[in-house]
Amino acid sequence: MRIVFIGPPGAGKGTQAERMIEKYRLAHLSTGDMLRAARDAQTAVGKKAETYMAGGKLVPDEIIIEIIRERLAEPDCQGGYLLDGFPRTIAQAEALDRMLADKGTPLGAVLELNVPEDELFRRLAGRGRADDAPEVIRQRLVAYREQTSPLLDYYRQSGLLKTIDGLGTVEEIFQRVESVLDRLAS
Ligand code: AMP
Repeated sequence: MRIVFIGPPGAGKGTQAERMIEKYRLAHLSTGDMLRAARDAQTAVGKKAETYMAGGKLVPDEIIIEIIRERLAEPDCQGGYLLDGFPRTIAQAEALDRMLADKGTPLGAVLELNVPEDELFRRLAGRGRADDAPEVIRQRLVAYREQTSPLLDYYRQSGLLKTIDGLGTVEEIFQRVESVLDRLAS
């Protein structure tokens, strides 16, 4: 099963992703985690990415596409994976489509975790990570609205998009996720 997971910052994507990878035995490909590790290790990629991350802006497509290209070649991806936080722009989605077409391994579904923006701001303000200063939060929401939300139409057109209501308890939301993924797995 190859799944893309899309949702704005603060939607609860991380929590749901953890449960999904465990239940469905998927490799977890979180570009945010990869970039934070690269930044902390001060690799060449990490040094390039850190200014963008600190400002709540997206890291340039070429950098992120290359990271994913290398990651998808690793053996654990053969058993299926969850792409978490990638793609985030139309250019990234198009690059992913090309990579997967070359491999003959199409996506099974794109899950959108949908949460209204006022609720997101409330949740993000209470979270307290270093990149969660109010101005950075605002910028991350702007990046989502302007650069990432166009992907919803992109994947709706290809028939892959499944929208999941992101309001409720972790358990309630995971049941909605399961109802989509159980159908795919069978
Ligand atoms: P996340 O934890 O997914 O919210 O990612 C943290 C930060 O890493 C984002 O605010 C971006 O600066 C950067 N980032 C993660 N994934 C991507 C991506 N696919 N494209 C561009 N930038 C990304």
